[in-house]
Amino acid sequence: MQRELSDAELLAAEPECSSEPEGTELCEGDDHTLSKSSESESDQTGHGTDKAACSGHEQSSIQLSLSGNRTDSQCEGSSIKRRRQDNRIPLERFDRKYLSVTDLSRQAWCEQQVVYGMELPHIQQLRDEVPVVKTGSSIHLARELEIQDVVPINIESQEDSWGVKLLNFLSMIQFLQTGECVRELPVFGELEGIFLVGVIDELCYNSSGELELHELKTRGQPTLPRAAQRKSYHLQVSVYKLLFEAMIKGQLNKDTIIHHLHLQTERSFGSEVIAYAQKIGLSVNTFGGLLDLIFLNLMYTEIPTVDILKIEYCYQADASVIGTEVVCFEEEWVKKELKYYCSFWKGQREAKGVDIEEAWKCRTCDFADICQWRKKKAEEAAEKNQANHRK
Ligand code: SF4
Repeated sequence: MQRELSDAELLAAEPECSSEPEGTELCEGDDHTLSKSSESESDQTGHGTDKAACSGHEQSSIQLSLSGNRTDSQCEGSSIKRRRQDNRIPLERFDRKYLSVTDLSRQAWCEQQVVYGMELPHIQQLRDEVPVVKTGSSIHLARELEIQDVVPINIESQEDSWGVKLLNFLSMIQFLQTGECVRELPVFGELEGIFLVGVIDELCYNSSGELELHELKTRGQPTLPRAAQRKSYHLQVSVYKLLFEAMIKGQLNKDTIIHHLHLQTERSFGSEVIAYAQKIGLSVNTFGGLLDLIFLNLMYTEIPTVDILKIEYCYQADASVIGTEVVCFEEEWVKKELKYYCSFWKGQREAKGVDIEEAWKCRTCDFADICQWRKKKAEEAAEKNQANHRK
């Protein structure tokens, strides 16, 4: 019979490699090294292609390893060291004008893991390429295509990229007003002094006329997630609700967007963005002009607040539904969590890894080999054990 590992032993244990033992939930940690593509910082470049409706993805069950190549590990170590000697607050140090809601959700899983993901972005990029991640993305896209077209739009600037997000938001609001369902709805706004960006998987009315927010989570195993993972999902959907409602209530304004995103209001849109605006009935050439029109439109929009938050868990292998969870929105709890997580980005405290009771998360973490938090906690636990033995 096998003995269960103690928390201290879990911290000191070698991380799991690519295989995923059956009957465990080790894939949970992997879920948290990912973010929805349309929420990620790659949008901050302002060049390439955007979509008239966006797609997202979650979850992987494959572990990437940082170990094996000593030279690479040394380079990674010195790049991390350089970053840490930088005295700017984390948001500026990582060159982020905004955070994605999935960044926050992953932070609730392990903040230290999010920091390593930003310090070593090539690991994140490798993970986004693994087949199982692409499967999650395909399931999301297939759902989106069930009800709306996805049209690629060429973007030439940051203003174009944000212009498309705003146009997507407005066109979907128009559908919601007529009682239709929308998917991949972009939401954004300022909470705790930080600009947050998210993509709601689905908003639709139920048979009682209540507005429901749906989040789809694809899983590598046909099991429901543990409480630790569910907590991060609850935070995610609750923040979506806060952002969406602030937008439709007119609490987000032009100055906030310009202030955080450093965009030029006078900058002209590229031809494809102008054509997209015309398609949804707006005659506008500049980013500032679009902001004025959007906020004017929202003043005359009557969209109800979100009544119900639901998370659907779906098995990646065959896209079957594992279960659905109704999340109770607790405003006080969400705001408290947000305050805590944002305090790290504002430089008010150091990054924190997992507590010893959650050391099992480290076993599937891509950064376990280099994680200083894990090392420190393992040493503390070993010292404590020795002290107990001496008594
Ligand atoms: S090893 Fe553990 S503490 Fe360190 S980043 Fe990974 S999950 Fe967090």
